[in-house]
Amino acid sequence: MSEINKAIRGTGDVLPDQSYKWQFIENKMIETARLFGFKEIRIPVFEHTEVFTRSVGDTTDVVQKEMYTFEDKSGRSITLRPEFTAGVVRSVIEHGLVNCALPVKTCYVGACYRYEKPQAGRLREFHQFGVECFGASKPTADAEIITLANTILENIGIKNLSLEINSIGCPECRKVYHAALKEYLNSHSEELCDTCKGRLERNPMRVLDCKSPICSKIASAAPVMLDYLCNDCKEHFDGVKAHLSAADIDYKINTHIVRGLDYYTRTVFEFVSGDIGAQSTVCGGGRYDGLVGQMGGPQLPSLGFAMGLERLLMVMESQNVEFKPEQPCDVFIASMGEKAEIEATKLCCMLRDEGFCAVTDITSRGLKAQMKYANKIGATFSAVIGDNELMHGSCNLKNMETGEERQVTLPDGLVEAVYDFQINSVFEDLSDSVEGIETLFQNK
Ligand code: ATP
Ligand code: MG
Repeated sequence: MSEINKAIRGTGDVLPDQSYKWQFIENKMIETARLFGFKEIRIPVFEHTEVFTRSVGDTTDVVQKEMYTFEDKSGRSITLRPEFTAGVVRSVIEHGLVNCALPVKTCYVGACYRYEKPQAGRLREFHQFGVECFGASKPTADAEIITLANTILENIGIKNLSLEINSIGCPECRKVYHAALKEYLNSHSEELCDTCKGRLERNPMRVLDCKSPICSKIASAAPVMLDYLCNDCKEHFDGVKAHLSAADIDYKINTHIVRGLDYYTRTVFEFVSGDIGAQSTVCGGGRYDGLVGQMGGPQLPSLGFAMGLERLLMVMESQNVEFKPEQPCDVFIASMGEKAEIEATKLCCMLRDEGFCAVTDITSRGLKAQMKYANKIGATFSAVIGDNELMHGSCNLKNMETGEERQVTLPDGLVEAVYDFQINSVFEDLSDSVEGIETLFQNK
């Protein structure tokens, strides 16, 4: 296949027969976030490169290896967003949201771009849902966003995830920790990968996030940040744990979570799945108390998380989570002749005004081909409009599954008949459920 007939490596298409799954999870996420007081924010796909280098950090994998950066025609350096937090922070500062009633609670969904080695669960264009909360310093806030992530994951039907939490302290206690970590890493400096050798002086914690097997092995025996927390950070972490326990949310402490982005402080967390192989982190987040100030805004303690939609879909597929199937076409109206075509279009408009999916032929093909199409798109009902129907002002509405037909008067009888059917099918569903409950009781 020639290049132009193939999507770029590491990108993918969501085809029409799959998109309802994406709509389902995205809607559930935004709706659940709304229940917690978060409102959607939409930001550009690209920003000035500095938005990311200054926030994500220039010793991180994202900035050093993964960004899609290019010069635009005026010579500015532009980067496709590798994540949302930096852009959202830029936006809330630019528009003065940081001066509004605090905390400001935002959520987002959209594509991110990272030049990584494509593999299962790791793409070059992928999608995230996430939240950012500005102006909340207490452990209650950390617990609230973790609870929100947990509720979203439950609401989309995922099970068996484990929540892992850690604290990576504040700039004060981290200084002491960095010194201890550097000392340890220096004793292994020869074995570290080249990138990590370069990071050792400026940001030794980045070595702990390196994916190379040798660096990971060295990292596993390194001193841990939790042992170096100052009193305030320790108290904060204890508060987060207490709130999570009170909310009945299970967690594990994982001293190795440092997160791949520099802006984090104090609480960091991940939701991990055992069902999708190596790329197992489906959600990552934490607190970033210094970032808003560092980006030119006021000092505003803030926090957030992001979840990867492709990875979540993989977990859902592996756990056979049932998605509510897309509403198929309710009524297909076939037409024969020019006048009938116009009438069919009018009838479709009426049905659509009532919220039904109505489709008619727009290719002027023969009746047989039209009915074949109605079958293929899974229409629940069909009706044929020809000269006879036009003359008598009535047509037959056919149930495509049972073959049952009912004569209806045009135009109002058609809409009524479709409603009638819907009500009947709701009753049938209800009586099925009642029967189910009765059987359940009888079997007890
Ligand atoms: P990883 O350690 O897997 O590289 P990360 O720490 O780089 O993840 P974050 O920057 O925290 O990831 O992004 C949040 C979430 O976005 C991840 O938990 C994951 O679900 C998803 N994600 C990150 N990178 C990719 C990618 N290249 N392809 C698909 N999903 C991704
Ligand atoms: Mg990564």
